[in-house]
Amino acid sequence: SYILAIETSCDETAVSVVKNGRDVLSNMIFSQIETHKAFGGVVPEVASRKHVESITVMLEEAVEEAGIPLDQLSAIAVTQGPGLVGALLVGIMAAKSLAFALDKPLIGTHHIAGHIYANRLVQELEYPCMALVVSGGHTELVLMEQEGHFHLIGRTRDDAVGEAYDKVARALGFPYPGGPYVDQLAMQSETEVKLPRAWLEPDSYDFSFSGLKSAVLNAVNQSKMRGETPDQSGIALGFQASVMEVLVEKAIRAVRETGAVQLLLCGGVAANQGLRAALTARCKQESIALLVPPLKYCTDNAAMIGAAAHLKWLHGEFVPQTMKAEPGLSLEAWSVQS
Ligand code: ATP
Ligand code: MG
Ligand code: FE
Repeated sequence: SYILAIETSCDETAVSVVKNGRDVLSNMIFSQIETHKAFGGVVPEVASRKHVESITVMLEEAVEEAGIPLDQLSAIAVTQGPGLVGALLVGIMAAKSLAFALDKPLIGTHHIAGHIYANRLVQELEYPCMALVVSGGHTELVLMEQEGHFHLIGRTRDDAVGEAYDKVARALGFPYPGGPYVDQLAMQSETEVKLPRAWLEPDSYDFSFSGLKSAVLNAVNQSKMRGETPDQSGIALGFQASVMEVLVEKAIRAVRETGAVQLLLCGGVAANQGLRAALTARCKQESIALLVPPLKYCTDNAAMIGAAAHLKWLHGEFVPQTMKAEPGLSLEAWSVQS
């Protein structure tokens, strides 16, 4: 199949053409980070307007780069949710128009299924497999018994990992999105400020990061009250160590207890060098096959949407022109029907 995929769920306007859910023929991304930086986070209305401005150019470039005539496309895929409703709508309108004009089927795609199937752009998946999803809005352990079947076995009870990274970075004085700054700082430090770990109940696969975030804010404020400058890199390292230990140990236990044959790391925080290194080392120790996408497929992109949409194309599961943006779309419900 040749799928043209569109992603506009947050602050990246992205279009890609993907062959057979695996070969990326083009992957165009326009990031709005510079625009949102001034506000300290993504402003939904501004994001929608920026998507409108960029979508046509991204579409043209993605089609040109792929070198596939439009009439040879198999389907048009678009992120249906989760995400910002106004941002999703821009991609959905573009996808509907193209699908209508070209008389091609339309595939509504789940953003997190995209993050997970980004791994298939690199290597064939084997089932059952376990996905550790760490992104700006999600922190989940997802068991896939078969291709396209998603079962959530754990999730965050409060903040997502990426959200915690961004808030910690902000407290340390770094701009949005702060994850990469905390990652860099942690690499520079040798002395770790000790911070708590939230293990929750012994048999739980859930996560919690709000207590850790508060502990960081306290450490920063206490130094400031003493008139000292906070030990930025020590705090970053301590924060990262706590996040990593819990994520890695729960993911390893989930693999062991479910008999998964592969562990897939995915989502924007999968770009974190500390996490990539820690998980690689532990999986090697445990002889667990670990898949980690290259950095360009970790943060939001449309190639991953094309990879996930291929599942629906295989099963002929298309959506009508009346399809709507679903900001709270469930991953389990998006599983293939057959
Ligand atoms: P979701 O996918 O849950 O809808 P999103 O699309 O906004 O959320 P992503 O684009 O997947 O999120 O990831 C963005 C997040 O990844 C931000 O919180 C950002 O700080 C974080 N991030 C990116 N690079 C790194 C890094 N090197 N270390 C830690 N966090 C990182
Ligand atoms: Mg983004
Ligand atoms: Fe994302």
